[in-house]
Amino acid sequence: MKDIVVELLSERGVPLSEIAHLVLELQKPYHPGLTLDDCHSSVLAVLDKREVQHAILTGVALDVLAEQQVLPEPLCSIVARDAFLYGIDEILALGVTNIYGTIGLTNFGYLDKTKPGILRELNSHRERVHTFMDDLVAALAAAAASRLAHNRRQG
Ligand code: MG
Repeated sequence: MKDIVVELLSERGVPLSEIAHLVLELQKPYHPGLTLDDCHSSVLAVLDKREVQHAILTGVALDVLAEQQVLPEPLCSIVARDAFLYGIDEILALGVTNIYGTIGLTNFGYLDKTKPGILRELNSHRERVHTFMDDLVAALAAAAASRLAHNRRQG
């Protein structure tokens, strides 16, 4: 199932290398020798978790169905326009941020506010719906960064 999730992310315009860049940006200040390869491995380790795979499959399916305008109304319009007060996209993403403790939440909040790299691209896409994807990608990067922080503390 991990391969399906990686393929799905890439199909929707999010190669793992972009997520690894977000992780590097988050962890670089605390971890000077960190490489992009370390970040890539950490993203892959997060993607091993079944709950992460399930969150991505669910969120991306809702994005795609909203894009195809086949979700029931009023949900379809809400997801398609990424309504400000919807918030379920963030709730789903919390299931991913929390797997390595509360530090993940801080990392997620930072990415959500600053929207670096691929997050800015996802947010400005006009033809595609990325209501769930932007939060899932931020959550994945946040969890992978938290994982590196925890491993470093133990090491
Ligand atoms: Mg969103």
